[in-house]
Amino acid sequence: MKAAVVRELGAPLIIEERPDPEPEPGQVRIRLEASGLCHTDIHAARGDWPVKPSPPFIPGHEGVGIVEALGDPVEHLTVGQRVAVPWLGRACGRCEHCLSGWETLCEQQINTGYANDGGYAEKMLAWADFAQVVPDGISPRDAAPLTCAGVTTYKALKVADVRPSQLVAISGVGGLGHLALQYAKIAGATVAAIDVTDAKLELARELGADILIDARKEDPAARLQEYGGAHAAIALAVNEQAFAAAYGGLRRGGKLVLVAMPAEGTIELPIFPTVLNGISVIGSIVGTRQDLAEVFQLHAAGRTRVISEVRELESVNESFDDVLSGAVDARIVFEFAHA
Ligand code: NAD
Ligand code: ZN
Ligand code: ZN
Repeated sequence: MKAAVVRELGAPLIIEERPDPEPEPGQVRIRLEASGLCHTDIHAARGDWPVKPSPPFIPGHEGVGIVEALGDPVEHLTVGQRVAVPWLGRACGRCEHCLSGWETLCEQQINTGYANDGGYAEKMLAWADFAQVVPDGISPRDAAPLTCAGVTTYKALKVADVRPSQLVAISGVGGLGHLALQYAKIAGATVAAIDVTDAKLELARELGADILIDARKEDPAARLQEYGGAHAAIALAVNEQAFAAAYGGLRRGGKLVLVAMPAEGTIELPIFPTVLNGISVIGSIVGTRQDLAEVFQLHAAGRTRVISEVRELESVNESFDDVLSGAVDARIVFEFAHA
């Protein structure tokens, strides 16, 4: 099988030929049809974060494809089914977090495309219990971005507990943001979309944003305060200043949901206004299997649109550069010729 491999953190990925992996007990082998490029894959390949992956590894946690082999004993999946393999590759199922509906916080979790080989390949392994069946009617191209960008932002809106009368700020209308905006609209909120490229602001307008804020030209915090401030701000831009702007745009009782993870960055939390204004700051990491099932359900019902551009896996290094410069249509999806 062909795979894009990180051989050294910070170096370009290398396209390699590798033997097909054999499923261990509880795993399945998937023949990939589509695989999304999440900004997290760039952080992974560069070793941006304190907990670093160990090369060589294959990134990718938006892989969608067909089950072609079962490791004994897998009972609930069958050969020929279409599944998606998210970041949460596996969790223990027994800890406090797993048992209380927060499997995304499990300390024993294994992350796809980080601790385990991911979807930048023609084939991959997945633990059957965490491979999500893709409902009929959703194309692999659409299912791929939903598998991380979708579930992550759907969950971020859930933890922000958004109501129909509220103003929600979406900071960064990229792969995650273009879906966050739609989930906020589905929740009934008024949406302010913030970005720094004309194309992304135009996309936000097409997707129904009520207020457009160009952070190159205006101060997002001041603009949001003109409307009384946001009830929730979802921080999706990979930029330290954008977090401060989102915080500054909140109204009293507002919630700042941190999702983007720049390589470095701190957010200053001035104690007095945070206390006085009853501000919540919430870290939000991906979503559970149930969240992903709901994301697929909404898409199958025609409630969301996934904006993507299709590329070949060989373009992976150039594709990373294009995501970093903001020159892509929301999400890049690699499609595989054998599919
Ligand atoms: P992306 O590159 O597709 O989108 C980022 C967007 O932010 C782009 O549209 C860019 O133009 C915009 N932007 C840049 N600077 C800005 C600024 N100053 N103000 C407003 N917008 C600005 O990235 P993505 O794939 O959507 O991922 C975003 C981040 O979320 C990454 O750091 C990624 O690792 C992280 N992420 C977190 C989780 C989680 O579970 N917490 C899950 C997936 C991704
Ligand atoms: Zn991701
Ligand atoms: Zn657990």
